[in-house]
Formats: sequence, structure tokens, C-alpha cells
Amino acid sequence: MKRLIGILFLIFSLTPLAFSATSGSFCPVSGEETNGKITQTYNGKTYSFCCPKCVKNFKDNPEKYLNSAASQAPAEAHVH
Ligand SMILES: [Zn+2]
Repeated sequence: MKRLIGILFLIFSLTPLAFSATSGSFCPVSGEETNGKITQTYNGKTYSFCCPKCVKNFKDNPEKYLNSAASQAPAEAHVH
């Protein structure tokens, strides 16, 4: 039984990694999940966005969105 719990724990601990690998990343402007098709490189790092509007907002003030992404709070909520 202990062994089974260990296996289950392993599966659950690996699931978020597998999920993020297949689903891309999150838009730093809106905080929404992206499909990885819209990207923008800044400071040698590539970020993906949910829509072209978010790319424009990011370009206008990249530091604002990168700082807010670090604090885990979306900079602004918006509807597509
Ligand atoms: Zn967007």
C-alpha cells in the first residue's frame, strides 16, 4: 500500500510539468493561457501572448507586465 501511494504521488507531482509542456505558457499581460503561436522576444527571453492586443500592450510597457507577472497578479483583466 505504501508503494502504491508513492506511485500516485509521483504521477501527481509530474502532471503539472507534462501539462505546461503541452499547453505553452501564460500571457504576461492578461494572465491567460496561450497557445504559443503569438510570441515576442524581450531581453533575450521569448514570451507568448493570448492575442495581438496583448503584444501591443506589452511593447508599450514591458517592465510593467514582467513585474506584475513576478508578483502573480494579472496587470489588467480584459475580455477578448
Ligand atoms: Zn489578450
